[in-house]
This record gives sequence, structure tokens and C-alpha cells, in this order.
Amino acid sequence: MPPRRARRWQTAEMRDLALLPKAHLHLHFTGSMDVPLLRQMAAEHGIRVPSALVDADPLRVPATARGWFRFQRLYDAARACVRSEADMRRIVDAAARLDAAEGSGRLEIQVDPTSYAPFVGGITPAVEIVLDAARAASAAHGLEVGVVVAASRMKHPLDARTLARLAARYAGDGPGEVVGFGLSNDERHGDTSAFAGAFRIARRAGLAAVPHGGELLGPDHVATVLDELHPDRLGHGVRASEDPALLARLVDDGVALEVCPSSNVSLGVYPDLADVPLRTLVDAGAQVALGADDPLLFGARLLDQYETARTVHGFSDAGLADLARSSIRASLASPGTKARLLAGVDAWLAAPDPADAGPGDAGSSVGRSGVGGRRADAAVAAVTNR
Ligand SMILES: [Zn+2]
Repeated sequence: MPPRRARRWQTAEMRDLALLPKAHLHLHFTGSMDVPLLRQMAAEHGIRVPSALVDADPLRVPATARGWFRFQRLYDAARACVRSEADMRRIVDAAARLDAAEGSGRLEIQVDPTSYAPFVGGITPAVEIVLDAARAASAAHGLEVGVVVAASRMKHPLDARTLARLAARYAGDGPGEVVGFGLSNDERHGDTSAFAGAFRIARRAGLAAVPHGGELLGPDHVATVLDELHPDRLGHGVRASEDPALLARLVDDGVALEVCPSSNVSLGVYPDLADVPLRTLVDAGAQVALGADDPLLFGARLLDQYETARTVHGFSDAGLADLARSSIRASLASPGTKARLLAGVDAWLAAPDPADAGPGDAGSSVGRSGVGGRRADAAVAAVTNR
């Protein structure tokens, strides 16, 4: 069954999820683009991109193993359009702008600098460009953009160590600093234990360990990732839901899960959004941070993930606020930033529920929030914006 795109269900009777402060902890650099930006870059460089990339719904394929290979081919085609420092800066700026518009107060964007290094004189300049762009985008768009440097499972583990040493030089928790070290690409490839050395280097530098795991492989591999890489957060980790004991271990160890429902469905991990075990994970006490992964390929951004939680999984506004709190707590932001964003969540939830508004307010010409809602919006905005 093809993936079902999350729809905008915002009505006058619901709190606006775009105003709910949240942290976005799973977004890849190239995959963060929207189609107009990719089209623009491709045109500037005279590159023809597969029509599947720019004509929407690029992964509408049966939920089989084909999903990953098609994804990888299209991702590589998109990456081939990124050929200059200016391109790299535009990507970070657009990601921050789009995230901020969806209520994200903290974005931790993930980048493997290796692919862009040839165009900017090496992996060190590639990382520094992303960090500098993250600082500029934070100031321009009123959110914090931290960076996760990610190694690839498809490359040699010694490459991962080199990246970890590089990432360590820029460690911090603020905008334009490296906040964590990741491991991405096809989970079925490579020996996870061989990457333990890279994660040791990263951890010694104070970086959080945020590898992918528990997406294309099941509980056994999640256990391996826990044993070998000692993650602070897991990219995806949804397959841990298949083993209650393992899930309990994740909860006990405080390992947060970056859950990306649209990605899971597009890659055939689950046949439909309703099958993503969001409830199972939350009910078990797991700390869940919803993420978009690669909006360019999955056709859904951060807000769509929260709308899915509301419309497909039936989360109430209180439950959605808890998801947002969970994302903020799982972020690597400073205590001060976390407190500010959490206060914004409280203000969002404390605002009058538009569903309780009188008949004169609901659906009136003042728009989605009614009079009380507008006051509340202003209160939330005051807390969210700096
Ligand atoms: Zn990912």
C-alpha cells in the first residue's frame, strides 16, 4: 500500500500545532530541502534530476525492500545538486526557516560532510561552513540550530573515527556547534561494533551519541547498538516495540527515540501511518521526539508528524504537548533553552481550547483561534521567540 501523506487537519476547533514549541532532532542536511530549492539548485548547475524527485511522491512504491534502494538512488541524485558553499548555506538557512515556521525552537541537523568536501576544499571547511550557516540561520529565524556530524555505515570505520575527531573540535550545545555524533545509511550494512571506536572519541569530547538503529533491522540490532555504541538517542528505534524487555531497557537507560513516521511508511518499515507503533512506545514510557528525517523524499515535514499523532494516533492536545516536551528534553540544548521552550509548551496548553469556544467564536472571521486563541498565540509567541 502506498504511503499516506499526512493532511493538514487544522480547523477552528483545534489548537494550532505550528504554535506548539518543539525540538526537531532528526533531519538530514540534503533531505531537509524542499522541492523548490532543489529545482533551483539543479537549474543553476544545469543538472537534470529524476522527475520522481521534483514531481512529488518520490517513494510511492510498494512497501518492500525496494524502498531503501530507490530512496538511496534519489537521495544521491539530490546530493549531486549540492556543489558549492553557497548551496550548503542555502540548505541550512531554508531548513531553519521552514522548521521555525512549524514551531521548532531547536533544530539539530545531521550532516555527513564527506559528500560536499570536494566542492569546498575538504571535510574541515565543509563542517565549518555548516556550523557558520547554522549560527547565521539561528539568528535570522529565531531558533537554535545545532549540528550532528554523522558517519556512514557504508564507509570504513576509520573514516568514522576521522569524522569523530573533527566533530570533537567543535563540540558545544549552542547554535552553530556540534552537539552529537551519528551513524547513518543502510542499517543492514557494516559491522556496528566496528564503529565503537569512533563513538568513544565523540563521547570523550562531550558529544552525544545519536546513531541510527531499529529501523530496517529489529530488536536484535537495537540491542547491538546499545551494547556497542552506548547511544544517548536512537535514530528511529521504532522496531524496539517488538520486544517489551528491550523497550523497557531503553526506557530505563533513558535512551530517547527519534521517531519519524512518514519516513517509516515511505521506506516500507510499516505499511501505513496507523501501523507506526507510536502509542506502544509512548505508553511504555519511552522518550519520543518526532522527526521528519528527509522531507525532500518523504513529502512531509515536522508539523506533519505531529498532525499524524493527532489525527491518526488520536493524541489529545495534552498528549501532543507531552510529545513536544519529550522532544525538548531529548534535545542537547542548554538547560536555559530547554526551560524556555518547555514554558512555551505550558503556555500553548494553558491557552483556552478553541473547541470550548462559544458558537460566536468558532469558525468566525477572526480565523483559526478565535479571540481567546489569538491572545494565547501571542503569549506562546512571546515565549518562543527571542
Ligand atoms: Zn535518518
